[in-house]
Amino acid sequence: VDSVGLIDHHCHGVVRRDLDRHGFETLLTEAGTDSSLGGSRFDSRIGFAVRRWCAPVLDLPVHASPEEYLDRRALLGHVEVTRRFLAAAGLSALLVDTGFEPEPLATPAELGEAAGADGYRIGRLETLAEQVAAGGVTAAGFAVACRERMAEQAGDVIGWKSVAGYRVGLDLPADPPSPTEVITAAGRWLGELEAGRPVRLADRTLEAFLVWAAVETGLPVQFHVGYGDTDLDLHRCDPLLLTGLLRRLAPTRVPIMLLHNYPYHRQAGYLAQVFDTVFLDIGLAGHNVAGRTGAVLAEALELAPFGKVLYSSDAFGLPELYFLAALLFRRALRLGALVAAGNARRVYQLPPAGVPLS
Ligand SMILES: [Zn+2]
Repeated sequence: VDSVGLIDHHCHGVVRRDLDRHGFETLLTEAGTDSSLGGSRFDSRIGFAVRRWCAPVLDLPVHASPEEYLDRRALLGHVEVTRRFLAAAGLSALLVDTGFEPEPLATPAELGEAAGADGYRIGRLETLAEQVAAGGVTAAGFAVACRERMAEQAGDVIGWKSVAGYRVGLDLPADPPSPTEVITAAGRWLGELEAGRPVRLADRTLEAFLVWAAVETGLPVQFHVGYGDTDLDLHRCDPLLLTGLLRRLAPTRVPIMLLHNYPYHRQAGYLAQVFDTVFLDIGLAGHNVAGRTGAVLAEALELAPFGKVLYSSDAFGLPELYFLAALLFRRALRLGALVAAGNARRVYQLPPAGVPLS
């Protein structure tokens, strides 16, 4: 487990600036802007994990105080801090969702260079559609323009991501929308844009259209599932809401990747068992539940076939999160490896793995 270079199949970029305490705590969890009502964000599982596991990477003693930690971080500077954590994560590849950039973030190539790994890009469907809309298009030409843009990007991206969960919830129609339905929905949305509304796609028909158009490219399609930031209604992000669509998509044989999933990781495990095309990860939950990563992974694996579970960090902003997620995932797998074989091998003094038992 330690020697395998992890492939982080869903993450975002790192911020390119030094962070004060407010800035650091704001990026530590998905809760965004920090508030003093709950005290410090360091007083949480993830906060304790930073002090326990990240402090030594910055040459500090284990359990350094938040003040010591942030002082040392500032002294080293963000370039060095990013280099250290990404190198320490032990990655072989990063698949980066570049669709959410509230500020300039490190590119897939830059992340890859810092990590000594390959950096790839995942194309976000809503961003693609919003670019098409902002570029000027008619309702009748919208579908063709989206498909053309996907074809243009097909060499640059290795998969697509839908954030329908954020925008409209996962209760998407099972059947592909008809051309007329797409034109009607596009006309409504483009009309709102002309009336001065900000460019933000949040329409069930168009979300479903984009998923089907993405599937036509043959590349894997990721869905945001489960928890995220305050922009999201968690009860609308249960992956079971996708059941009808997953059933209709199954004959295409295109892999559907359910991202994060917590606290619906058991539901995701069920879907991965019954639909051959469905895969899952427990990204974001890993570093947030910290010492409970093994328990969450075990729950996801209750039903999910072992060929259907991937690693992701869903790290955003802080380089610590790429490192912490990888470390906690490895530790969880190592416990599994001990129970699965290591303990018996040690107690019965069996030969090392790879040596035939006969
Ligand atoms: Zn994400």
